[in-house]
Amino acid sequence: SERSQLLDAETREAEEVSLRPNALDDFTGQADARANLKVFIEAASTRKEALDHVLFVGPPGLGKTTLAQIVARELGVNFRATSGPVIAKAGDLAAILTNLEDRDVLFIDEIHRLNPAVEEVLYPAMEDFQLDLIIGEGPAARSVKIDLARFTLVAATTRLGLLTTPLRDRFGIPIRLQFYTPEELEQIVRRGARLFGVPISDDGAREIAKRSRGTPRIAGRLLRRVRDFALVEGSGAVDRENADAALTRLDVDSIGLDMLDRRYLDLIASKFGGGPVGIETLAAALSEPRDALEEIVEPYLLQQGFIQRTPRGRLMTPAAFSHLGIAAPRDLNQ
Ligand code: ADP
Repeated sequence: SERSQLLDAETREAEEVSLRPNALDDFTGQADARANLKVFIEAASTRKEALDHVLFVGPPGLGKTTLAQIVARELGVNFRATSGPVIAKAGDLAAILTNLEDRDVLFIDEIHRLNPAVEEVLYPAMEDFQLDLIIGEGPAARSVKIDLARFTLVAATTRLGLLTTPLRDRFGIPIRLQFYTPEELEQIVRRGARLFGVPISDDGAREIAKRSRGTPRIAGRLLRRVRDFALVEGSGAVDRENADAALTRLDVDSIGLDMLDRRYLDLIASKFGGGPVGIETLAAALSEPRDALEEIVEPYLLQQGFIQRTPRGRLMTPAAFSHLGIAAPRDLNQ
């Protein structure tokens, strides 16, 4: 579908050298999430029980999949991964569930895109480790119950609001991931450069970090591109100057906003006097799917204090006008 293109491009970046940390102790940032997970993993391991079901919530690229893999590794169990839109029928989920072993981790990405018929199968599986299947049709139909292994569902979503309440309530460990600080991203960039074998100066790492939109996936992508420029046009080493030049050529601005972020803000400023303006109107004017705006563009602009969501639509703040270098209208947001 149209909505998926931008989002899928986000998730399917090819990685020749993986930057994925393998253990909780190698995972930078998300201190609260890490500390809590550590306790729950240790408790479950001590009791030799399956970990309670975990739900990771947050924008793309913050480490939900990475943490799910780490959870399985730290528990010492198998990791099976799938995603909401891939599980088309109840039978598909049944096949996955009946193949799980005790304490295994089943990861379902984009769980908010699960089809409702599949969700119905998931409820008893999560709660009682049972599968309720209807076999046959019409008067001959009968229901069979199948016992499942005691597994852990680890799910990820970018949109908590799209989850049904019964599904949301079945996760004992809900964890919201936050955007990373520039200091955390700087560590992630330095670690990445070390893994790539690329020399980088402290101010070079800092420059990439502060332009990474609070997101490790973007930090990794920018580091790769800056590395290419440094190799072809310089000595191969990354410093602040060549990082800045490369990022500017990639249309990443001084605080990390990309073309789409700036088109979004420019539109509200120039065509709608700073807002309020409805999301559908913005999506149509930008020719971008509404989902992409809500899942990728807006969370970071909200976190930066550049926009507000109101019942009447999106409002741009004075800080955003000042970043764009345009004077805010005097009656802004009245
Ligand atoms: P999500 O599932 O939330 O979209 P991922 O777990 O796929 O995000 O992470 C995206 C990329 O960012 C991966 O390549 C991963 O290696 C990297 N990454 C995520 N979190 C961290 C972190 N805390 N430290 C280092 N790299 C990270």
